[in-house]
Amino acid sequence: MTSTTRAVCPHCGWPDGAEPFQVVSRHGTATGGTVWTRCACGSLQVRVSDGCGTRVVSRSRPSAARAG
Ligand SMILES: [Zn+2]
Repeated sequence: MTSTTRAVCPHCGWPDGAEPFQVVSRHGTATGGTVWTRCACGSLQVRVSDGCGTRVVSRSRPSAARAG
């Protein structure tokens, strides 16, 4: 396995390289696929799979707002 920049969720620290907390939907594309996942903190993420692997290209803020 190659080790590049390890990204994690800025909201809860869930590693992007780890298994998604919850897979919302999958979409096939010409170059690979897009996977919508929900993080443990409620943040919706868009992961794109291509020949280089899977990476998170977009993520929303956590849906469950907590005071403080
Ligand atoms: Zn998170």
